[in-house]
Amino acid sequence: MILDHYRAPRNRGELPTPPAIKSEGKNPVCGDELTLYVEVEDSNVKDAKIMGSGCSISMASASMMTKAIIGKSVEEARETIKAFKAMMDIHEQTLETEQSVDQDKAKTDLGELEALTGVVKFPVRIKCATLAFNTLANALDTSEGKDAGSIATTE
Ligand code: ZN
Repeated sequence: MILDHYRAPRNRGELPTPPAIKSEGKNPVCGDELTLYVEVEDSNVKDAKIMGSGCSISMASASMMTKAIIGKSVEEARETIKAFKAMMDIHEQTLETEQSVDQDKAKTDLGELEALTGVVKFPVRIKCATLAFNTLANALDTSEGKDAGSIATTE
């Protein structure tokens, strides 16, 4: 699933700004860089595109992320960010305690994004996987008129 998205990334390209919002993200640890374009209309994510380069995890995560949020409301997109980060945390804890965590408790269905759970076995890769989501959070803040600051980083 991850390799499939890496080899054939979805929603690559640019969107005209405005109306789209451009948000940049960097993961200095790995050297991943991505530029996210999000078009929000009536509190819905109308379209999203990704540019940038990085490792397979960061690029696959970004590809899956766009697929997961296009057509959703901004609120749902924020829930997806929250759920994805929670998934990364849960698995980190699971590894530490070696106890299984009931994943069904997560209320947001992450769909194919759950393919990225394997990433948490490699803590340095968690940043690669969450980069797209930090960048998205910045873009959504900007769309709501908040000053999100310059560039999203994983640091
Ligand atoms: Zn990376």
